Amino acid sequence: MRLDKMLANAGYGTRNEVKKALKQGVVEVDGAVVKDGKLHVQPERQSVCYAGTPVRYKAELYLMLNKPAGVVTATEDARQKTVLDLMKNEWGHMKPFPVGRLDKDTTGLLLLTTDGAFSHELMAPKKHIAKEYRALVEGKVTQADVEAFKNGVVLDDGYCTKPAQLEIEESGPLSAISLELTEGKFHQVKRMFAAVGKKVIKLERIRIGSLLLDSSLPKGGYRELTPAEIQLAK
Ligand code: URA
Repeated sequence: MRLDKMLANAGYGTRNEVKKALKQGVVEVDGAVVKDGKLHVQPERQSVCYAGTPVRYKAELYLMLNKPAGVVTATEDARQKTVLDLMKNEWGHMKPFPVGRLDKDTTGLLLLTTDGAFSHELMAPKKHIAKEYRALVEGKVTQADVEAFKNGVVLDDGYCTKPAQLEIEESGPLSAISLELTEGKFHQVKRMFAAVGKKVIKLERIRIGSLLLDSSLPKGGYRELTPAEIQLAK
């Protein structure tokens, strides 16, 4: 990859800023000053230093966000605050995008990445990647609902859902539940409860695949995934 692209991706500024820095002679490749950004480097094999500090290279970015309510899952929106607005632009030219979507009022685990193949893998319907939600539901959630979700319920558009595992944590006028889905239809959790005559009033996603939301992340907080966590999500 080009040296200027590598530096921009690593957060050392825009391509123009990087070009200026290169001209000033602050960049070394394998110990020799390089001023030409067009030089091709192999980040995994060569040592690149900026002002004497080794440049940490990332080919792709993988992030976990604890999404708060009130922001839309989009990269841009003319009127509403997006999940990207929660993040500082700290990765130079790397522009992460959300993997799938959570509703504006849904909170919890949202992954963002620059890796199109990773996103595609997580979203592919035939992969059946499990997602777990916790919800507060108006009305008494019963064993009959557990059975109905296990057998599949018919949504408002006639679609019959795949078997889903519903667990009741508290049943009462307001019920607390957890639900594992292996598919991701539009507003699926809310529409499944609507199909059994109940209303979801709070919804949080806590798991994708085997990857759990980091409970130490505050709402709106985010961090990079470790290499092991990237595998857990798949
Ligand atoms: N199901 C929903 O209804 N909303 C979400 O945001 C995610 C799953």
